[in-house]
Amino acid sequence: MIPDPHRYDLDALRARLMNERGGEVDDSIPQLADADPELCAVALVLPDGTARVTTDADVAFSIQSAVKPFLFARALLDTEGEALDRVGIEPTGESFDAIKLESGTGRPPNPMVNAGALLAASLVRGSDPAARDARIAEGLAAFAGHDLAVDEDVAHNEHLLGDRNHALAHLMRAEGTMQVSADDAVAVYARACATLVDAETLAVMGATLAYGGVNPHTGVRVVPARVARDVVSVMATCGVYDGSGRWMRAVGVPAKSSVSGAIVLAAPGRLGAAVVSPPLDAQGTSVRGRLASEAISDELHLHSFAAG
Ligand code: GLU
Repeated sequence: MIPDPHRYDLDALRARLMNERGGEVDDSIPQLADADPELCAVALVLPDGTARVTTDADVAFSIQSAVKPFLFARALLDTEGEALDRVGIEPTGESFDAIKLESGTGRPPNPMVNAGALLAASLVRGSDPAARDARIAEGLAAFAGHDLAVDEDVAHNEHLLGDRNHALAHLMRAEGTMQVSADDAVAVYARACATLVDAETLAVMGATLAYGGVNPHTGVRVVPARVARDVVSVMATCGVYDGSGRWMRAVGVPAKSSVSGAIVLAAPGRLGAAVVSPPLDAQGTSVRGRLASEAISDELHLHSFAAG
């Protein structure tokens, strides 16, 4: 029998997680380097809209790469699906910011790595970066069910210090696959990454994807079911960078990791979840986040490929 997620003991899970001391906090920008390694929160959002949360689930952090599924969703909507021709959907087996495009086409390999997220940011409708920022913010708010603030210092530093992102954007310009200026694309992407969420909000966003594009709190259809399905499929194959295969075997739930130590999970029809804990492993995945995801998948029978 499948255990009832309404009764799942999240506090006991969190207590187990706190015994894990491995991993390193990202230091790419000062604000991320300052993250509290003891921050640890888990949140589940169930089909009836119930949110189950631990301590710290209301602590804000920058969403970072956990924004990529939602950015891709926005690009799919704004291009009426054409984004699927402009960005590949194959896993790379390489790090999140590898300077590499698809050979032959010059397209970014998939929307869950930086190249693809930069292109997705450039495909969002809007005549200038401010207009694209506003559209992205509106889309994220619909997934979350409320407006989200942006940490302006994080946005500024990531725009300024994201040398590899600038390099990727210039490479896509040189290949003819990116139409906006490289600097515009990096600025818009950096600002999306600097959006502030907490674990409960991120779980609602994951749940909206898991429930076919309908936000379980507001009841609003945020994206068509087909868009939600396409986004979750790419999370399943590419969401954990060069750790995606290992993730799918061990956790079996589509997810997106991020350097802030957040992971957003979407188990179609079953639940949305988020975990945040800043210390990361070598693939940039939260160490406690992975452990929590494995435990939740195992204990609530969420693995996509388990027969029972
Ligand atoms: N903003 C970060 C970057 O582009 C996101 C990377 C991540 O979260 O994995 O470098």
